[in-house]
Amino acid sequence: MDQVTIQHALRRAAEQLQATSATARLDAELLLAHTLGWSRARVVAERDYALTSAQQTAFMALVARRANLEPVAYLIGRREFFGLELLVDRRVLIPRPETEILVELAIAEARRSRRAPITIADIGVGSGAIAIALAMHVPHAILYGVDLSADALEVAAANVARYGLHNRITLLEGDLLAPLPGPVDLIVSNPPYTILSDIEAGVYRHEPHLALDGGPDGLDCYRRLIAAAPDYLHRGGAMLLEIGAWQAQAVVHLLRQALPQAETGVDQDLAGRDRVVWARNPDVIN
Ligand code: GLN
Repeated sequence: MDQVTIQHALRRAAEQLQATSATARLDAELLLAHTLGWSRARVVAERDYALTSAQQTAFMALVARRANLEPVAYLIGRREFFGLELLVDRRVLIPRPETEILVELAIAEARRSRRAPITIADIGVGSGAIAIALAMHVPHAILYGVDLSADALEVAAANVARYGLHNRITLLEGDLLAPLPGPVDLIVSNPPYTILSDIEAGVYRHEPHLALDGGPDGLDCYRRLIAAAPDYLHRGGAMLLEIGAWQAQAVVHLLRQALPQAETGVDQDLAGRDRVVWARNPDVIN
């Protein structure tokens, strides 16, 4: 192979990715940094460095996979979320920035609580993103992370270990709330809520459908989760759910049916779309 510098390799890769990625140049830089085991800053700074042929081959293989819409996070095995660096692979949904709003609201909710410790369940824990972010920011919380997928729980366990949180986060395999040992103070969940035929090609092709597929109207999980919630929430307890932008009304309705005494609300993500629906049980049951 001819001598190819970082500069040339990045230009070629960005051209190759242009048609399929809105972030072609950034993708190329991240993939090359991963190939070389360097920081992205160093890749950009050392643009005249000549790649070895092994490095070129490895980089071109990653670029080809990216051109097939494979997410960068899977290709480099990592994703930043709420200031954490999480390990991710195709066993788990990649944490999305809009889920950070769910974490922020859950932190605020946990801080309102006078209970110590406060118990929190993350239903559909996936990579562990939400549970780990909550554990880091709510020191008086103990958490359960539930998932139907044993594969996903392996990834969650690796992330829990990475942050030294195995004493505070218990991972449980099973369906929704059923594996919990009893009621908790806070239930958080980013359940599968998409209508599979509506999602982007790259997401559909590479991310786990178990984490995405909310059934024909996207509401399957909310129906089952919310119907079971009254038995799993302490007095004064709250439930915070990520939703698709079009689902707020339907999910609020389900919450009002299951928890008629609860206060409910809807919050928006940074793009102004409805993203989180919540319900808070009264402290005193009338
Ligand atoms: N927000 C995700 C997406 O855009 C869906 C996540 C989910 O179903 N919980 O694909």
